[in-house]
Amino acid sequence: SVPQRSNDEILKLRRQWLNPTLSVSYREPLKIVRGEGVWLYDQHGQAYLDMVNNVCHVGHCHPRVVEAGQTQMARLNTNTRYLHDNIVEYALRLTATLPVPLSVVFLTNSGTEANDLALRLARAHTKARGVIVVDHAYHGHSPSMIELSPYKFNGKGGEGPSAHVGVVAMPDTYRGVFREGPEAGRQFGQLLQPAIADLHAREMATAAFYCESLMGCGGQLVLPDGYLPEAYEAVRAAGGVCLADEVQVGFGRAGEHFWAFEGQYVVPDIVTMGKPIGNGHPMGAVVTTPEIASSFVTGMEYFNTFGGNPVSCAIGLAVLDVIAEEQLQENARRVGAFLMDGLRNLQRRHDCMGDVRGQGLFVGVELVRDHDARVPDQATASAVVEAMKARHVLLSTEGPDDNVLKIKPPIVFSQANAEQFLDTLDQVLTSV
Ligand code: PMP
Repeated sequence: SVPQRSNDEILKLRRQWLNPTLSVSYREPLKIVRGEGVWLYDQHGQAYLDMVNNVCHVGHCHPRVVEAGQTQMARLNTNTRYLHDNIVEYALRLTATLPVPLSVVFLTNSGTEANDLALRLARAHTKARGVIVVDHAYHGHSPSMIELSPYKFNGKGGEGPSAHVGVVAMPDTYRGVFREGPEAGRQFGQLLQPAIADLHAREMATAAFYCESLMGCGGQLVLPDGYLPEAYEAVRAAGGVCLADEVQVGFGRAGEHFWAFEGQYVVPDIVTMGKPIGNGHPMGAVVTTPEIASSFVTGMEYFNTFGGNPVSCAIGLAVLDVIAEEQLQENARRVGAFLMDGLRNLQRRHDCMGDVRGQGLFVGVELVRDHDARVPDQATASAVVEAMKARHVLLSTEGPDDNVLKIKPPIVFSQANAEQFLDTLDQVLTSV
């Protein structure tokens, strides 16, 4: 068995033997040894309420998902070159959740792989190279996805924008150039046209527009009404395809809808998935239209050793079953609304809560120093995260100014969990 080491020893070994860019959460890092539902446990048995893990979507170590993986792993795991029931059943079940034209499935092992493959699909279909992305977006860690992620290429260690990439402003109605009001979404959407023209001026046609359906690294941002319809129209008029990155937010988290893009009343040409798809098991997917999929038929096979293996598909099926049987999309809608109400109540008493925003169980609280001037308060945000942790609630920060409390718990999060969180946050905001 594996030796049990102290936190200090593990930190020391990580520094010596592992990727030197690994980061760790909290000033005093936690050693987490067990998870169950919305709870994480340290080596002393102390429970922590997990408010940030959007990967263990239906709850940490959900018994149905664990059992599905164990049973299939004990029977067979191999690649897709043999016939197997799991992969076709998974494709049928997954596409049943999507609008009709999205009917061809490619299975991968991560969100990055899904977005990477999607770029190849878009380029094969359009014969173009240019890509428009939203400022502060994150789409993955491979070289091609770093190039599409302003969060990375404009961040520390980044090498700036590449010639084939156009960046549009984040549709942020709290801080952006267009503020609250019914026209803001459309106005932000109109920024696509000049970005496409800019690419064109560099002799680059537009292959794709990548957009997260709710923005994660951008600071838990909900796209304003009318944004994607306007943006998609411009992209399609230029011959490009529209991609919805649902890696963080798909599979019922948005509450009202199974896919967060549905809240914008659009149908993307490509949808990419990851994180929650396997409840922690490494999995990803691309779903697209038959037309785009057929453009990818060039004679070169797309083969992915692990993608679509029987174990991953068994796990993916169990996740879909649990979401349906435990009515977790409805739970996300109901508890998310309760949580937003509670946060808006707290906002009346705590001036530092500049903006409360979210959809379902994807919520952000932007902390500010001056309510009217909206000055980002990174220091308070990080103090709140530490103080919440001291009270056994796990949160983190996000956004361009790192001042947004990031709230995206497993979607089994209950009203009682929300009450505990709200009480604790109230105490902490009173004390910091
Ligand atoms: N897209 C989005 C929106 C993400 O949040 C992430 C991961 N944070 C990715 C893509 C990349 O997924 P992965 O880490 O599974 O490669």
